[in-house]
Amino acid sequence: MTETPDPKLLWFNFLKVFTRGLVQINLYKPEHPQVRQALQEGEALLGQIADSLGGGEFSVTIDNDKLLINGVPLIASDKLPNSLRNLYSKFRLQTITFLPGANGDDLLALCQVQAFKGEAKAFLAEKGVERIKLNEAVYAKVDSGRIQPQPGVVAPGAGAGEGQGGGAGQGGAEAGPGGAGAGQGAEKVADKLAGQNFETALSTVVSRVTSDPAEQRRVVELLQAKFKEAVEAGVTRALEEVRREKKKVENDMVRTESVMTSIADGVVVVDKEGKILMMNPQAEAISGKPLAQLSGKKIVDLAQIENQVVSLAKEIKSDGRADVSREIAKAGSETMAETVKKSTAIIQNEDGKIVGAVSIPTDAAKMKQVEQLQQDFIANMTHELRSPLTSIKAALEIIGKDATPGDSSRGILNTAIRNTERLNSIITDILDFSKLQSGKMIFHQEGVPAAEVAREAAEAMRAWTSSKGVTLNVTVEPGVQHVYADRRRTVQVLINLISNAIKFTPQGGTIEVSADAGKESMEGFSFFSVKDTGCGIKKEDQGKIFEKFVQVAAGEKVGGTGLGLSITKAMVVMQGGRITLESEPGRGSTFRVALPVFKGQGEQQIFEQLPDAKPEARPWWKTLLGIK
Ligand code: ADP
Repeated sequence: MTETPDPKLLWFNFLKVFTRGLVQINLYKPEHPQVRQALQEGEALLGQIADSLGGGEFSVTIDNDKLLINGVPLIASDKLPNSLRNLYSKFRLQTITFLPGANGDDLLALCQVQAFKGEAKAFLAEKGVERIKLNEAVYAKVDSGRIQPQPGVVAPGAGAGEGQGGGAGQGGAEAGPGGAGAGQGAEKVADKLAGQNFETALSTVVSRVTSDPAEQRRVVELLQAKFKEAVEAGVTRALEEVRREKKKVENDMVRTESVMTSIADGVVVVDKEGKILMMNPQAEAISGKPLAQLSGKKIVDLAQIENQVVSLAKEIKSDGRADVSREIAKAGSETMAETVKKSTAIIQNEDGKIVGAVSIPTDAAKMKQVEQLQQDFIANMTHELRSPLTSIKAALEIIGKDATPGDSSRGILNTAIRNTERLNSIITDILDFSKLQSGKMIFHQEGVPAAEVAREAAEAMRAWTSSKGVTLNVTVEPGVQHVYADRRRTVQVLINLISNAIKFTPQGGTIEVSADAGKESMEGFSFFSVKDTGCGIKKEDQGKIFEKFVQVAAGEKVGGTGLGLSITKAMVVMQGGRITLESEPGRGSTFRVALPVFKGQGEQQIFEQLPDAKPEARPWWKTLLGIK
């Protein structure tokens, strides 16, 4: 056997000698020359190996299918002689470590241990062996791809055999544990690490890198420091993220709160139970009830009674911060919830935090108002219908009793006639209104002379003005153009306006009815005016009077339904015209009606006209009349 300084050759030679020792100790006593020779050779090789390692440890590991020297794969384990493999498997050895200075006696004890029935470690201890350690150094494996077969290196099994042969074997070099083997080894380590805590796992891994305890400590400390650094960096990053998220949520909350406060003027303050503590006047207006009536009531209960939609954060009921949730508890129907817009009051808790909202959807509010008006209307109407009828009845009874009507009877008859006319006009209003409401009012539009319309309407009302002592003048501007309108309806429009003027103008007053081309910058229109010197209409009422059922206080009590102007406006607008009002309380009012000029259009019948031809759109005139 040629001696070479190559450490791997030394390792192979040692393994061969060691195997020989294992075999021979089974055959001979320790003093036998063959044994002695093997042990001497072994001792010498261990010395050389220790030198080659610079005085370091020499460990022989069998890991699954490979033999590793100081963690470096050297040979596939199935190429090893059985005696060596058996020694490892019998005592469940993974690594035998030879410390520097291990001698032939130590090696002899190691060879003798194979026949021992107890613990191998205990046997060595009993023999006083200190330089051979079992299973103490665990080496991490090195990628097998980096191990190159050594030319001339001989597998120990092949040459040493199980017998006495001392010469170098002829077996091929075996350096190649496969990649699969390496993988399996790694899995084993992983299994081991899986059950360990971080510190132990780290030590386990480090012990595979170096067997020097001081070095191990340094590596462990270094890795721990690096790990800490990495964890701290990770935590800082995560905290940053959390901070950013928190800021975003806070911003969202502020935005939501500002949206809520801007859409809602009303503020309701509730306690933890959701009971009303305070309301501002706007909130009172929305709920339709004063605070005195609602304070102490649960806002959710209120919603059921009042047809309101209430959304209340669940957190209102939670004491601690732990179970605060953003969930919203709703009362009221979903469709209503969708219509919630402006009639919303926010609900704050005692700390001023918004915890919900309460609202009456605009439609519901409007419906409530209309309901009220309709009730008043029916009451008024019944009264209005009953009074003239009673008068007529009484008048007719008197006439009936008086067989020869004289002058006094004539006066009574006139009263009866006036009341009948009043009744007739009220009934006409109701009929017109119901026609408009059901979309059944028909307009025959044609070219109508504006002057004729004005005169016709005025003449129809002259008897009433004379009996009341009011002057009625008609002025027609020369050259005023024909209007494109339904003659009968247009006369009716003017009659409505004149009859109002008579009603609200005291005796001695004047009513001017006129037709003119108009100074207004509205091209293509002719104008009618009804100007009176009556009581006038307050600014704040001027917008309201065109709504149905609206009557505003006008000093003296005058009959009427509150329908006249809304019908008048609907008739004007349906014919493509406009109606305006100028009035000063105490000085009189001027109603001006603009109707399109006749330009030779053919006769047209308007039947429920829908200018914006959307089929599902609510007819504009219904909006005008406030009809659902
Ligand atoms: P009514 O049939 O009850 O008169 P209208 O719709 O015609 O109802 O009128 C509504 C209200 O408008 C009246 O109650 C009255 O207060 C006011 N009004 C209408 N015309 C005049 C006017 N020429 N002068 C003063 N007030 C008027």
